[in-house]
Amino acid sequence: MKTPAFELHIPTTLKEALGIARELHERGHDFDWISGGTDLIPNYKWGINPRPHVISISGVDELKGISPTRIGAMARLQDIVESPVAHPLIVEAAGTIASIMIRRSGTLGGNLCLDTRCFWLNQSETWRKSIDYCHKCDAGTGADCRVIPNQNELCVATYQGDLAPALMCLDASVHLASHRGTRSMPLEDFFQEDGITRNVLQQGEIVTHVEIPKGSTSVVGSYQKLRHREAWDFPEGGVAFSVSLSDDGTPVSFNMASTGFESIPRKHHDLVETISKGPDWAVEAERLGVELKRAVRPVLNTWFPPAYRKKMASVLARRAMEEASKRLTSAWQS
Ligand SMILES: Cc1cc2nc3c(=O)[nH]c(=O)nc-3n(C[C@H](O)[C@H](O)[C@H](O)COP(=O)(O)OP(=O)(O)OC[C@H]3O[C@@H](n4cnc5c(N)ncnc54)[C@H](O)[C@@H]3O)c2cc1C
Ligand code: SF4
Repeated sequence: MKTPAFELHIPTTLKEALGIARELHERGHDFDWISGGTDLIPNYKWGINPRPHVISISGVDELKGISPTRIGAMARLQDIVESPVAHPLIVEAAGTIASIMIRRSGTLGGNLCLDTRCFWLNQSETWRKSIDYCHKCDAGTGADCRVIPNQNELCVATYQGDLAPALMCLDASVHLASHRGTRSMPLEDFFQEDGITRNVLQQGEIVTHVEIPKGSTSVVGSYQKLRHREAWDFPEGGVAFSVSLSDDGTPVSFNMASTGFESIPRKHHDLVETISKGPDWAVEAERLGVELKRAVRPVLNTWFPPAYRKKMASVLARRAMEEASKRLTSAWQS
């Protein structure tokens, strides 16, 4: 499989990168950002919506860096895994992504902006041509969605990034920049329930970093993942759970977020609101598991069937809560 030809732009500052994006737009040229390329380049090789211009942000220093409260979009996943200052929940989720080789290239920004996936799409051009394509990449045929047919509007491809639920459980916000200025929002508001648009990024806009609240040092959590092969596979489902502690070690609030079940990662405010303050962990873990299973809506477009993924949502939620409660106990004892 050959990578299609594109013109590569290599800015060294954020201002220059945003300027190139603006200029390309004004000239009517489509482009993609590229950071590690571990998602974009395989998609290009498969002929999935390649663009004539690619802007590499790997040389932009403003987008780098890892601190307890800020992780740059260009932070490499393996650097996050090895970071002594990143929150343990982020480190844990990053450590489950792909393989060490891929994590050395892959970045936080690329992980959040990961393209959605579907077994009708993540195939070679020849394979997709043989089934007359699908709506997300239809080669001008007007092909319908193969998962939910007869609507030709919505793509329900699955979001399978691992970092988002962990960051959501820490109440992280995402920061964006374009030549029009900057803006930020809670991470859960960044994603859009459409497998084609995926998120709220506008023309020429880029993710610059995520911000993690200072109080996250008193948050303990766990991320649990279902995948086909432990060696490197995408999540068929992932659940993060976190507990915020007061100064005396009492749990004061909870967060739960999932990935791999739908077109967006989702924060489950409504489910955790009902957890009692001095929780009986075993009872709450069982109950939350059942409620999460009801809440997620997987479709038939990844490796495992939806019924199994739904069932595993409850198992992952229970495991994440049980693991978080163990860590909470040991954090408080040490
Ligand atoms: C074999 C294999 C296994 C994998 N397993 C996993 C897994 O288990 N879990 C997982 O989460 N991922 C997995 N991945 C996907 C990928 O490696 C990671 O998600 C990685 O973090 C993507 O980052 P990147 O920098 O390489 O992104 P890129 O490929 O550079 O970009 C990905 C997308 O994000 C856009 N983008 C990149 N940076 C920015 C930015 N700063 N602002 C706006 N848009 C941006 C690009 O335009 C592109 O659309 C796997 C990939 C492979 C090949
Ligand atoms: S969900 Fe439908 S439109 Fe989207 S990639 Fe799959 S088959 Fe194509």
